[in-house]
Order: sequence, then structure tokens, then C-alpha cells
Amino acid sequence: MQDVRDMPITALRGVGPAKQAAYARLGIYTVGDLLYHFPRAYENRGNVKRLCECDGQSKASVILTVATQPRRAMIRKGMTLVKFRAFDDSSDCEIVYINQDYVQSMFPVGSQFRFYGKAEFDGKRYHMTSPVAEPVTEGKPLPPLHPVYPLTEGLSSKQIGQHMETALSLAARGLEDPIPESVRTREGLCTLMFALRAMHTPTDLAGVEIAKRRLMFEELFLFGVGLRSAKHTKELISAPVCAQNDLSAFFSLLPYELTEAQKRTVQQIREDMAKPYAMTRMVVGDVGCGKTVCAAAAAVIAVQSGRQAAIMVPTEILARQHYADLAPYFEKLGMRCALLIGAMTPAQKKKVHAALAEHDAGKRVQVVIGTQALLSEGVEFAAPGLVITDEQHRFGVAQRARLSDKNAHAHLLCMSATPIPRSLALVMYGDLAVSRIDTMPPGRQRVDTFAVNQSYRERLDAFIRKNVDEGGQVYVVCPAVEEQESDEDLLLEEIGIGREKKPPLQAAVQYAEQLAQRLQGYRVAFVHGKLKPKEKDEVMNRFAAGEIDILVSTTVIEVGVNVPRATLMIVENAERFGLSQLHQLRGRVGRGQRKSYCVLVAGGMSESEIGEIAKRRLNTMKTTYDGFAIAEQDLAQRGPGDFFAKNAGGAIRQSGGVEFRLASQCGDGDLLTCAFAAADEAIAENLMQEHPALGDAVRRMFASADQHDIMN
Ligand code: ADP
Ligand code: MG
Repeated sequence: MQDVRDMPITALRGVGPAKQAAYARLGIYTVGDLLYHFPRAYENRGNVKRLCECDGQSKASVILTVATQPRRAMIRKGMTLVKFRAFDDSSDCEIVYINQDYVQSMFPVGSQFRFYGKAEFDGKRYHMTSPVAEPVTEGKPLPPLHPVYPLTEGLSSKQIGQHMETALSLAARGLEDPIPESVRTREGLCTLMFALRAMHTPTDLAGVEIAKRRLMFEELFLFGVGLRSAKHTKELISAPVCAQNDLSAFFSLLPYELTEAQKRTVQQIREDMAKPYAMTRMVVGDVGCGKTVCAAAAAVIAVQSGRQAAIMVPTEILARQHYADLAPYFEKLGMRCALLIGAMTPAQKKKVHAALAEHDAGKRVQVVIGTQALLSEGVEFAAPGLVITDEQHRFGVAQRARLSDKNAHAHLLCMSATPIPRSLALVMYGDLAVSRIDTMPPGRQRVDTFAVNQSYRERLDAFIRKNVDEGGQVYVVCPAVEEQESDEDLLLEEIGIGREKKPPLQAAVQYAEQLAQRLQGYRVAFVHGKLKPKEKDEVMNRFAAGEIDILVSTTVIEVGVNVPRATLMIVENAERFGLSQLHQLRGRVGRGQRKSYCVLVAGGMSESEIGEIAKRRLNTMKTTYDGFAIAEQDLAQRGPGDFFAKNAGGAIRQSGGVEFRLASQCGDGDLLTCAFAAADEAIAENLMQEHPALGDAVRRMFASADQHDIMN
């Protein structure tokens, strides 16, 4: 029998070509896809109120008896209303449906319904517009939780719910659990069928949580099995052998000796590039650990072997900085270098294009440093050898696809300043080889870190002044320009999932204005994510040039711009940032000779207003300065979801191309470890053979990843 999961979605009653197309837009092609299409939230319809308790602000359920015959009225052309009255023991309510004539016959006088929506009081009676109505039948209680699905045009939540019912009943008759029972028992996981029912037809949130845990585990477990069973290692891609790798001349130009970690990294690169197939290596290390010099060494190797190297960075300012830093070394080695950025004139760009495509090896440009401009039409390499991306998680999916298209047969080296835990490296970078630079160059000063609350405001202002007066510059980071609560938050709140109450946000725009007011005479500027890249770059340039004293920003400054005069980093609402993110931000200062500081400002006014967890996290920042150690703590405290989310569309072939549905929200640090350990055991015990459903599920997961790759 065909596996239910592989049945086309059209096998379900009520799904014809139109619905099929709508489902395709959601990435749903099979019954299995539908079963794994999970609600994004749940409406709490079980919390039934009396009309007089409704505030008109939030949605609520009321149970009302229909009092009058529904009447249809034409308001104007193309707009009709169906209206009637209904009541409970506290008040009465006028209910209106717009352009839904068919409801007229649904509400006989005297019948009872549970209406879910906003009930507003106009001084005389309540009003509800197009509420969700479910008939109340004795002996058949209505489900308290209503799943809310990500929707698309042509599919209502109700229709998805109906199709889901059918899919669930099909599944009940023959859906094998991909997680072998032995694993399930050991890990205390519910069955697949229980999980699917609990997600799609929930009776309580506890069940949803149990289901989620199991489904997240399933994703991570299948992924682990897939990676480790080694059937999915990508084919090797041929690439030019770059075996000329005498770096002594290059190293003798450097004013320092490489650290052990750097040497190890360079050695790995050397070995990779000497092979006839493409290197795909990721160099990971804290900000300031010295990744650039490793990249430069790789470029030297490519050029020595007669090939060209391209170094791509996300912003023009970074491109300029790298060019200024590296070109002198390359030139001393007799290598020809060029810069290629969007800001150059068409004539300048054309010149670089020509020099890159030059057939005469004695004249062509050998190393080019640039932005996405490197991906534009007209950029052709006469002898491509190596592509390096710096801070590469900043590049979008499309850009990354272009990059690998354009350089199908080049060695690939990526740099990332996001130290990630060892256990995550495999998940996030798939089959990329990883070099970890886990020690800092000697003599680095430590950025002293303090955690304070709002009551320190005045002292903080004084500290800012002091830093600037002594010739330093200051970064102030706020979480977001204006953060709106998402629908999801609201829905979750209705259900009452115990979230920590969020302290008020410092809206960055306002904050910058107030700060400028308080610090008259100091030059304050502001960058945020909503500015155009050009505007952002301009402000960053002015800051780097010392024309701005205090730069207020949202997290856009995470990008590796080097401003040696910056001595103070202030992070507002610091409790809202992940540890790794805070660590990255802290890495922006302490890059010059001057003593530097990082102040983490928590949202509340007093100790008691910051939650225990937040306090512990801020304390970690005061005592830990190693990015990898911090990342491990982040993983333990916040789970892997944070890393997946931040790097989504991030690393090349992130997760080996697999997209997680639920694991990207996983807040449980142990789950990944457990799932991967279980995957190891499953392979050791040969469970794939014994339990074919496991092998099938793994293949399905990776097959869809491959399809996905093609579509991108
Ligand atoms: P990142 O890893 O953040 O890209 P960089 O490569 O920009 O860091 O290096 C930061 C600074 O450290 C640079 O000024 C660089 O010259 C310096 N540096 C790199 N390696 C060493 C080393 N082994 N010893 C001393 N300084 C070094
Ligand atoms: Mg860097």
C-alpha cells in the first residue's frame, strides 16, 4: 500500500485543482506535507465569557441564543449584510455578517451558538461583526482550542481543518511512526499519531507541548540519522588544483606571528585547495580572532597556482576596509588587486571587469575584493580559483545561489563571526568543513562588562560623556525601531502561555532623539535596518571617520566594521538579546589601544523587575569572554531554535538544505543533544534496516531538501 504520506493532496475529499494550487503555494503537495503543516497558534475559544465581560479589544467566546430571524439587507452595490440579535443572561448583542448571505439560514431563532470574535459595547448593546459561530449541541462539547494555520489565498482555516480531519483519519489507518518504539520509550516521546492529533485537534495546551517536543525530536533525529548515515554526502565538484602554497613570503610581511589556531586553519585550507575538487570550508571564530589573514593566505595560494581569488563582503565599507588592509600585502607580493563596489562609476567598473577577464595572465587582476557587485552581469573570471565570503550569513539566499552558480568550479571559503557550539556546526553547516579559531591573538584587552538597570541612566550619560571627552566613540544598540506584537504573541497571550512580561522597549528613533537632547554638544547619529543600504553605509562611514561621537543603532552594526576608536558599547534592553548576539556586539569595541567597556542595560528600574533567567544571562556576559563558551551557554539556555532562526537563509547549504518546521522554535538545549545521540545509536544498532519507516522518513527529508535546492 502507498504510504499515506506520499499520497497526493488531491487524494483528499474536497481537494480539486484549485485547492491543489493553493496548497502548492504553501509548499504542500502530499497528504504527508499537510499532516506536517502545523498551526502557527491556537485561539482560545474555550475561555467563554459573558457579554458584559467583553471589552471589545480582544477576541473572546460568548455563548448566545439567537433572538431574531436573520435579515438580509443590501447596503450598496456589492455589499450585503445579514443581521440578527442574540443574547445571554448578561446583555444582548447585534451580530452582523458582511457579504455572507449563506449564513442567513444558519441561525434559527432559539438556537445556541458559541461566537468567537470581538464584542464591542456602544452604550446600548454589544456588536459583533462576522464572528466565528459554532452550534452548541448538548452532549457534544466544543473543542476549546482552535488551530490557526498559516493561510494562503483560496484556502480558509476551516477548509484546512476539514482536509486535516480526512488526512488524520487516513493516517490513523496506516501511518508508521518513523521513530522506532525503542527510541520512543527511552526518550519518553509520544507516538506520531498522538502528536499529529494533539497538534491539529488539540484539547489542551499540555498535549500540544508533548506533541511539539516529540515532533521537534523527530526532525532533529531524522536529520542526525541522515547526516550520519553518510548516504547524503554531496558529490565532489571538480576544481583547479592549487598546490603552490609557499606562504613564507606572505607571512614574513605580517607584523605578527599567526596563532596556533590560525596556523591550523591555514594548514587545513592548504590541504583542501591542493585537491582536485572544490573546497567548501567555513572558518568560524570570534570577532577579532584574525580570520582575515587566513582568507588572505588562501588568496595567495590561489594566485601562486595561477588562479584568481574573489573576496566578497556584505557592505561597501567593509570592502573598502579589507581592500585598504590587504592590498598592500598582495601588492608587495607582486599580485595585482582591485576593488569592485557599487559606488564606482560604470567606467571604473568596466575597467575592473576587463582586468578580471583578461586572457593575458601577466596582466590580469588576480585578487578582487568587493560587494555583491561581484555577482553582477559582466563579472567574468579568466581563471577562477577561489571565492571567499566574509560575514557570509549576511548574504541572502538568492545571492548565495548566484555565487555558487557563477563559481561552480572554484574553491569556496566562508568566514563567520558567529561562534557556534560544536554540536550545532554539523546541523547548521551541513557538509561544510569547519575550521574553528578558538584563541585570540595575544595581548588583546578584555572589554570590561557591566549589567545595570534603568536607574543608572544619569551615571550612564556621564560615562558616555567621559568616553567621548577622552577621545573615544560610543555605540548604543537598541533592539528594534518599533516592535509590534505579532498576532502570534497575542494569540499565545490569550491562551495564557506564561511568557515573561516584556519590559517597555526603547524605540530606537525616539531614543536617539532623547539622547541627543540630553547630550547637547555631542554628535549623535542613528542607523537602523529600515534605512537604505547606502544611507546606512554613509552613517557608518562617518562614524568610522570619527565625525560622529555616538552612534545609536539597531543591531545592523553587527557587521564587522572596524572602528578602533570606539571604546564604549551600550546595549539597551539587553535581556532581549541572545548571549551570542551580545557577545558579537561587545566585539565591536576594544579594537584599539584604549580601554573599552560594554554596558548592558536591562529594561526594568530595579533588580526585581528583571527575571531570574535574564539576570543569570547578563551575569554570564560579565564573567565569560570566550565566544564558543558563550554559544554553548546560549544553546543550553535558549535551545538551538535561536541559532537556526538567526542563521536561517544563512550558512551556505544551511542544515544541508533541510528546513526545519518546528525545530527552528526549539527552546530546549538538551533536545538536540538527545536527538543526535539517539541518531548515533540508531545507526550503531542498524535500526534503519530493522525499521524501514525510519529510512523512508530520512530519505523523504533529504529528498525534499534537494528539490528545494533546485528551486532556489
Ligand atoms: P576577524 O576574525 O574579526 O575578521 P581580523 O582578521 O579583522 O578579525 O583581525 C583583527 C585584528 O587582529 C586585525 O587588526 C589583525 O591585524 C590582528 N591580528 C590577526 N591575527 C593576529 C595575530 N596572530 N597576532 C596579532 N594580531 C593579529
Ligand atoms: Mg572579519
